[in-house]
Amino acid sequence: MQLEQERQQIVDYGRKLIRSGLTTGSGGNLSLLNRQHNLIAIGPSGIDYDEVGVEDVVIVDRRGDIVDGRWKPSSELGFHLALYDRRPDVAAVVHTHSVYATTMACLHWEIPAVHYLVGFSGNKVPLAPYATFGTPELARSVTQSIGGYNAVLLANHGLVAVGGSLKAAFNVAEEIELVARLYYQTRSVGEPVLVPEVEMTRVLEKFKTYGQPDETKN
Ligand code: 13P
Ligand code: ZN
Repeated sequence: MQLEQERQQIVDYGRKLIRSGLTTGSGGNLSLLNRQHNLIAIGPSGIDYDEVGVEDVVIVDRRGDIVDGRWKPSSELGFHLALYDRRPDVAAVVHTHSVYATTMACLHWEIPAVHYLVGFSGNKVPLAPYATFGTPELARSVTQSIGGYNAVLLANHGLVAVGGSLKAAFNVAEEIELVARLYYQTRSVGEPVLVPEVEMTRVLEKFKTYGQPDETKN
């Protein structure tokens, strides 16, 4: 079996997505790039995370051709591949339908700097215009809208988070869900006071050295 460690991570983080309530059933998907072999491990399409074992993870090359695996890969393989092409800093992609981020996506609102933790994405979370799930149009929309951010809302759909590791991409998805919830709640009762641009620049600088050295390489 190829890329056994990567397969295991796809299984583990899939279960974590369910446990943390960031997605339900087989909604959302995740992938991990092995740079040495230039291959990608991605979850199978339409199978509940609880039922996915290491043997069910699909290994594809950078064009999306199946190298190892018996199932169809995630229907969103297109935007996973496009993100690895566009962003050399990205080695993992996590897509969720988490409730508050998706609420913002259904309103077609970006998420501004309502809390400094938006820095997990950048100075905001941008919005990708609507396109049908699993299409090249959605892949284009995602890559054009994410730019250099680490997260992007998909209109009427959900959230995509990226990182240098699955741990990092998962953290982005989790923290941005919190920020989306705070934005929803503050907008529900008043007008949130946003973190000024100059302060977000400072926060983003501090994020570069936040935590333990090498932490995201796990
Ligand atoms: P897959 O089960 O094919 O990964 O699709 C889930 C999804 O979220 C589509 O956008
Ligand atoms: Zn989806």
